[in-house]
Amino acid sequence: MREHRVSLDSLIQPLFVVERSADAGPISSMPGIERFTVEGIVDECRQLAQLGIHSVLLFGIPARKDAIASSNYDPDGIIQRATRAIKVAVPEITIIADLCNCEYTDHGHCGIIDEHGNVDNDATVALLVKTALTYAQAGVDAIGPSAMMDGQVEALRSALDAHKYNRVAIMAYSAKYASAFYGPFREAAEATPQFGDRSSYQMDPANAREALREIALDIEEGADIVMIKPGLPYLDIVRAARDNFDVPIAVYNVSGEYSMLKAAIANGWLEGDRAVDEMLVSFVRAGADSIITYFAKEYAQRHEV
Ligand SMILES: [Zn+2]
Repeated sequence: MREHRVSLDSLIQPLFVVERSADAGPISSMPGIERFTVEGIVDECRQLAQLGIHSVLLFGIPARKDAIASSNYDPDGIIQRATRAIKVAVPEITIIADLCNCEYTDHGHCGIIDEHGNVDNDATVALLVKTALTYAQAGVDAIGPSAMMDGQVEALRSALDAHKYNRVAIMAYSAKYASAFYGPFREAAEATPQFGDRSSYQMDPANAREALREIALDIEEGADIVMIKPGLPYLDIVRAARDNFDVPIAVYNVSGEYSMLKAAIANGWLEGDRAVDEMLVSFVRAGADSIITYFAKEYAQRHEV
């Protein structure tokens, strides 16, 4: 009689990969999550595949940062190298590469900063396109542009197609809210803006109809998958998207959602496995086809087939 189930196929594990081995290791605000070297991430992907998790979302932490994120489009950059290594060792893993610049810029913003201190939309889109082509060449299966620049999905789709990367999918961060729940991620990815914030290009948590407009726009621009982020505080948006659109919907159960559960579980305030299972099934019930969650691996370990 059970209406909804979390299937391992629907889970996507986010993974952090570092260029310098000194940057590898546990993330204190996200107990159980660590940053891997290229070697470590290959091993992690092997374990995930054995457990039945076949999709990962990669975030790179480069050794070098500058104002124009040049380590991001380096063909030997950290995402490019990690992708090639995973594809050789564990070809059954589907690799989605997050595409942004904030981990690669010394100022921590998602794009190129103009002389007034604002993010230059068009220059940033051009940079994203340049980087995406190197990711595609390295072998990623999908790209998740998270920079929230206007026209980024269309520019990426047409550049990928023009270079015969038609099979590289685009997962659009269509409804990405300016959220307090991203806090722990910033420790994980070393991506806190040095000045200002990102509210000029992330959505106001109070807006719902705007999310549907953004999703419609991304679909029109050629998105294959649309994503809503964060998850728990935005289940209504997931449901509305499901009711209004006929494309695959992903939800990102972000770092803060992970950390608050982990903290409560560690204190004995919540019953761990039940709380995690209840949260994950809520995303399926709301209408998500896939769930990006830091709980993917441990969920798979508890539900081993
Ligand atoms: Zn960013």
